[in-house]
Amino acid sequence: MLDCAIIGGGPAGLTAGLYASRGGLQNVTMFEMGMPGGQITGSSEIENYPGFFDHTKSGMDFMNTWQEQCFAFGLKHEMKKVIGIAKTGKHFTVSIEGGDIVEAMTVIVATGSTPKRAGFAGEDEYFGKGVSTCATCDGFFYKNKPVTVLGGGDTALEEAFYLSNICSDVYVVHRRDEFRAAPPTLDRANRKENIHLITDSVIDEVLGDAMGVSGVKIKNKNGEITELDNTGLFVFVGHDVNNSVLQDSDGNFICDMNDRGQVIVDLSMRTSVEGLFSAGDMRIEAPKQVVSASGDGAVAALQVIAYIQEQA
Ligand code: FAD
Ligand code: NAP
Repeated sequence: MLDCAIIGGGPAGLTAGLYASRGGLQNVTMFEMGMPGGQITGSSEIENYPGFFDHTKSGMDFMNTWQEQCFAFGLKHEMKKVIGIAKTGKHFTVSIEGGDIVEAMTVIVATGSTPKRAGFAGEDEYFGKGVSTCATCDGFFYKNKPVTVLGGGDTALEEAFYLSNICSDVYVVHRRDEFRAAPPTLDRANRKENIHLITDSVIDEVLGDAMGVSGVKIKNKNGEITELDNTGLFVFVGHDVNNSVLQDSDGNFICDMNDRGQVIVDLSMRTSVEGLFSAGDMRIEAPKQVVSASGDGAVAALQVIAYIQEQA
């Protein structure tokens, strides 16, 4: 029986593993279906993690030392995909793809979220090289420069507002003439003089070269193309929360979730099920940052240690 099964090896899962194993738990396994590191390993750089300020290092370089540190304190890693979790009596069963079942006293779920892609030409090629899904992460790279935002929901307009305080101009491209965002959010964007709303339009193509994105082609419903030069592109067309491990065979969630599929936790990262914790991008109100996901992982692991001590 594991003391703790950690599902997901991004910043939240790795930090949970570090705190749990260094905090005295003997038998902690992190199940990560790929290489540990999470979403940030797809980024060419990170400059908002305190204490790490090295433009020569990628997100992958940044995360490599995290796993080494965790494994040095005894965290075990299994490169396996978890397909489900169930509570049977006081303990949990963790079902692994391929049929194995592992028992655990506690579980920390940290499977993250995945920003949706919009599907325009060049999006995948330039993702992380000028096409971004994170204004907090990458907005500063466009200080006093124009940027384009794709999407018409609350996230797109809130992030456009955030970017408008950093960038010279923000061009919001939306495929319809009505916005999905809440009216006050739309009003605020309309009032900001450097936000320009471009409706009934889509990104036809993102342009670039070896240095990354150099501009975008915007196509309106009449097929007319406008080219914007020297702009980064932020895509906010929704997120998929990686919450399938929390669904039972009938498709019902085993713990309380909100209507956006995010896990409801308290400030101790406790879910509505005793012994089950969740951390990082998949929880309610997540700021979707490495530093906060990592903080969540630490909180969850400290709670796991306290919970196991209470059970003894
Ligand atoms: P994730 O990083 O999503 O990790 C979840 C892990 O769980 C993944 O490794 C996944 O493989 C694994 N997993 C999922 N399902 C299963 C399963 N069923 N079984 C086993 N494993 C599973 N943040 C910043 O602070 N600064 C930045 O500059 C920054 N830049 C970014 C750039 C890009 C391109 C992207 C995409 C994100 C960026 N972020 C940045 C956001 C940051 O990466 C995330 O907020 C953070 O990684 C969330 O950590 P997490 O551990 O919650 O989830
Ligand atoms: P969302 O509401 O699903 O909006 C996604 C937007 O992207 C929509 O405008 C959609 O256009 C557009 N879109 C989707 N696929 C596209 C594609 N392939 N190409 C071009 N455009 C595309 O997502 P969200 O903005 O991330 O919000 C998710 C949920 O969180 C919502 O319920 C939202 O209200 C909530 N939220 C709330 C707050 C807040 O309360 N402060 C903040 C952020 C988010 P269409 O409109 O045409 O479908």
